[in-house]
Amino acid sequence: MEAYNALHALMKGPLPSLYFCIGDPVVGNPTEAMVEQAFRSLDFPGRYLTCRVTKEELAPALWGLRALGFAGGNVTAPHKQTVLQYLDDLSETALLCKAVNCITRKGDGTYYGDNTDGKGFLQSLTERNLQVKNKKVVILGAGGAASAIATSLVLAKAGEVVLVNRTEERSRTLAKRLSGISPTVLSVDRWVGTYAIPSDAEVVVQATSVGLFSPSACVDVSFPKRNNALIACDVVFNPVQTLFLLRAQESGCTTVDGLGMLVNQGRLAIEMWTGKNPEKEGMKGVLEEAFSL
Ligand code: NDP
Repeated sequence: MEAYNALHALMKGPLPSLYFCIGDPVVGNPTEAMVEQAFRSLDFPGRYLTCRVTKEELAPALWGLRALGFAGGNVTAPHKQTVLQYLDDLSETALLCKAVNCITRKGDGTYYGDNTDGKGFLQSLTERNLQVKNKKVVILGAGGAASAIATSLVLAKAGEVVLVNRTEERSRTLAKRLSGISPTVLSVDRWVGTYAIPSDAEVVVQATSVGLFSPSACVDVSFPKRNNALIACDVVFNPVQTLFLLRAQESGCTTVDGLGMLVNQGRLAIEMWTGKNPEKEGMKGVLEEAFSL
């Protein structure tokens, strides 16, 4: 295939396909650098733009993106839930977790919403030969990331998912919503003071925002002593080595950082948009460079 040439496309067509990332705030969001690197590596004629869209501007922004012919994009906080009402079709995962992080324009011009966060998380485990089927998993948090991960765990038939959140009402609502979808048993634990991660937990997922941009912050939890059977995962990707993961390592846990999830959820989106699977090392490298700035 002839290499994509931006100047040639500008003068003779076809114009590149356009993709967006919308959220507020979006400064500090490295997705554009990661996706454009992947487009280049695939020689895919696409451009990706990061746009700050406030809550009040979400509806007109989406009509504008449709009018401009955007081929898809990513949605980040605070729009992951509210964007659902403006889409034409939703995946099973998006319906279950009531959140969309990835939009694709289909051939008939309709916009399809999916959620790749949970699938990206699961991939970051399976690519290291770590499985969740029939395992007991504790999730700290009940926000967007926790909801997407819990949904994927239920669809992957984890044995038990224990939801633990500062605001217990949110974890109860999530547990209720996901109960009965698969054989996975859902329960809720209280988080008062220091939460002691149960000694029979096989996977613990730090899915709160604690630690983001803050290497000295950690959720208030204690790890079982010298537990080398426990897999500890963090969704926070900047810093990559969070204090939560460092403490988990000290307790003997196997650790999985949030960078793998970030790359994988991006790769799944790019696969939907381009039909091709970008290699992850280049995408990871761009992120590491961005985080070092
Ligand atoms: P939300 O705002 O939806 O949820 C935040 C969660 O963090 C809530 O459960 C909240 O609890 C909890 N929380 C916040 N502060 C504290 C605290 N001091 N102590 C205990 N719990 C706290 O955010 P998201 O779920 O969308 O994002 C969470 C994190 O996941 C972010 O850091 C985000 O960057 C990261 N993320 C990573 C991805 C990746 O690919 N690696 C993908 C998506 C997100 P409460 O309900 O009580 O307020």
